[in-house]
Amino acid sequence: MSNVAELQKKIGYDLTFDCVQCGYCLPVCPTYETMERETHSPRGRINLVKMVAEEKIGIEELQNPIEKCLGCMACTTVCPTDVQYGTILEGAKEVIEENTEKPRRTERLESFLFESFFPSKGWMNRLGEATWLYQASGLQRVAERLHLTKVAPTPLEQFEKVIPDLPSPKERRQRKKAYAADGPKKMTVAFFIGCIMDGLFWRTNEKTIELLKRSGAEVLVLDGQTCCGALQAHSGQIDTSVELAKQNIQAFEQGSIDYIVNNAGGCGARLVEYHKLFEEGSEWEERALSFVRKVKDISEVLVELDGLQFTESVNEVVTYQPSCHMTNVQKVKEPPLNLLEKVPGITFKELERPDFCCGSAGVYNIVNYEESMEILDVKMKDVCARDPETIVTTNPGCLLQMKLGVERAGKKEDMSAAHLVDVLMRANPVPK
Ligand code: SF4
Ligand code: SF4
Repeated sequence: MSNVAELQKKIGYDLTFDCVQCGYCLPVCPTYETMERETHSPRGRINLVKMVAEEKIGIEELQNPIEKCLGCMACTTVCPTDVQYGTILEGAKEVIEENTEKPRRTERLESFLFESFFPSKGWMNRLGEATWLYQASGLQRVAERLHLTKVAPTPLEQFEKVIPDLPSPKERRQRKKAYAADGPKKMTVAFFIGCIMDGLFWRTNEKTIELLKRSGAEVLVLDGQTCCGALQAHSGQIDTSVELAKQNIQAFEQGSIDYIVNNAGGCGARLVEYHKLFEEGSEWEERALSFVRKVKDISEVLVELDGLQFTESVNEVVTYQPSCHMTNVQKVKEPPLNLLEKVPGITFKELERPDFCCGSAGVYNIVNYEESMEILDVKMKDVCARDPETIVTTNPGCLLQMKLGVERAGKKEDMSAAHLVDVLMRANPVPK
């Protein structure tokens, strides 16, 4: 990059001076723990960013440490000077993305995935329908028997094992645009369906609508909404991410709604930070702020509505793996636990280190498979010590990762992972 001032602005050079090098962030950083290198700690990454901005080292020296960062934001929760690590990280990714030559095939694939695939409801439905066909036609069993799944690259071969059962295209088409509240209406909410969530966890999305209805909310599924843009931002494609944010802001300006509800920790974390994508004082920042004020996780809304009575026992030992983005960015910690407490029959066992990332982190477990599995194995040691029957989580990436963890730990006969919403529905909630 020729213009140093431009580089420094983009990479967040000024923000790096907030770091006082105390090292409080080191013990909470999963990559520092598993990779055992200063350059792969929050403090080390900030120093590298500063050195790139001062042209003391080249951008290529920053690439690996930044690519190996999970973006879990655990470091920001312990930092005494409130270093804006998220902004520094995003700036570094953007600079790396702009200055790295990639093979044309990789570029074309990335641009298809981030600009066309994830943001498209049509593509997500096709993904869900193709996977349903694969499962329903018996092809999955044939492929397993012939060991064809082993031909796939390792991460895909592993993920193939943990994809949930999907609905048929006919079932998908039954989604309505509005659902009346069961009983007297207490509020109107718009449901943010997400891309992966609606493609692969469609049934959990349907249960989310059901829980909101039974709690007394009218639920709208607004047209025009798209992917939250988190995956694009994680990959340094900030412009695409901004365009998706604008599309969502516009979509949720329709009608009079109290909350914009999501059930995916990673998406929610992106949605609550939309205002940061726009210039201070601009019209878009104003519109983004109105959007952000309404964003809520499903657990927060269910606790606020307090409209459910659970009529069946879930006689299971349960632990909770919080989504880092939900805890560290959205700051939603207690509501999922409050809801689990209300389910009759559950024996709850808390993890020793619930705040340690599971290693999923968007597409981290696909692009950094080995490193992600090392982090997952640390997590699974903690999980196995509690010996739960169910690991509850609140984000599609964490859910797939925990299912993978159960497989890797050889526990699939007596342990499973589930979204909070699925566990709540097992207790047959009815309006109070
Ligand atoms: S975001 Fe997570 S992985 Fe990255 S530096 Fe902070 S604690 Fe470490
Ligand atoms: S805790 Fe904050 S100030 Fe201390 S080293 Fe880490 S980032 Fe820097």
